[in-house]
Amino acid sequence: NSQTELLRRKLEISVRGDRVPEPILSFGSCNLPQKLLQNLEAAGYEMPTPVQMQAIPSALIGRSMLVLAETGSGKTCSFLVPIVSYCAKVKNNPWKPLAMVLTPTRELCIQVEEQAKVLGKGLPFKTALVVGGDAMAGQVYRIQQGVSMIVGTPGRLIDLLTKHDFGLDSISILVLDEVDCMIQRGFREQVMQIFQALSQPQVLMYSATVTKEVERIAGSMVKDLTFISVGKPNN
Ligand code: ADP
Ligand code: MG
Repeated sequence: NSQTELLRRKLEISVRGDRVPEPILSFGSCNLPQKLLQNLEAAGYEMPTPVQMQAIPSALIGRSMLVLAETGSGKTCSFLVPIVSYCAKVKNNPWKPLAMVLTPTRELCIQVEEQAKVLGKGLPFKTALVVGGDAMAGQVYRIQQGVSMIVGTPGRLIDLLTKHDFGLDSISILVLDEVDCMIQRGFREQVMQIFQALSQPQVLMYSATVTKEVERIAGSMVKDLTFISVGKPNN
């Protein structure tokens, strides 16, 4: 309706797709686990940022999406909140990985995992990091012990997945963070290979730029894509 449109214009949000839910104005308005709300508050996140206002409700109703928003706009939390919420609500006994986050670099993976720990504190939520520079044996062991979310770089993940047969059927959310950067670094094939090893997950893609290549990958993975763009794109 026109009120939603006005709100989006004010927040510089544009959307494309089928019945995109309206932006939330507070974290409290979308039925998140109480403990997650407390963790957000403890982290000093009083209000969602515009990208979170639109991406969180869309992700929570299971939409796959391509999200464009500039650096520093709070994209990490916009996919971690739906992931933590899902992991906290779904029955997962024995522990199986429910979500996977791919980022282009080891440093980014570490940052994502750190934020995930903050948001998932006190909830049934465990993470594993799969990046180069650390022994693979420890990473394998960690996953075997049971985790809810795997965060990794595509190269290392493929490496690990070819040597160890983890059940990945349980993964229902796949995040491709900085997907344009992953393509630039030559990870396109690995990303596709990982996607194909999963069972039609919800895909949350984040990019600073929309290139033909990004659109092609998004289109090849998902039929009904929701497009969310916030603010003025980086270039
Ligand atoms: P992006 O991935 O879009 O570049 P980040 O997710 O790294 O941005 O977030 C940038 C900074 O903003 C981080 O320090 C993060 O802790 C902070 N932040 C994210 N969401 C909120 C919020 N709702 N309120 C306050 N700070 C936030
Ligand atoms: Mg980011």
